[in-house]
Amino acid sequence: MESQAPDIKPKKIGKIVVDRNLCIGAASCVAVAPGVFELDGENKAVVHNPEGADFETIMLAAKSCPTMAIYVFDTEGNQIYPV
Ligand code: SF4
Repeated sequence: MESQAPDIKPKKIGKIVVDRNLCIGAASCVAVAPGVFELDGENKAVVHNPEGADFETIMLAAKSCPTMAIYVFDTEGNQIYPV
């Protein structure tokens, strides 16, 4: 018998939303997850690829935002962050 990792389903992110009114262009999210976030012409973060990083990295990016402008939802539409 092989010892396997515990059977925990990886959490899936369904949607990432940046509140443009809250975003101050600090770019922490871009630094943490450049595969997911980028700054647009107005220096506001936009999600260019919601699957551009793994779950932990995206959560880290959301938590790194000084104004908590990043909202993360699971595939069923439940808000995972901020909670
Ligand atoms: S970390 Fe927050 S404030 Fe900074 S660019 Fe990203 S969303 Fe905007």
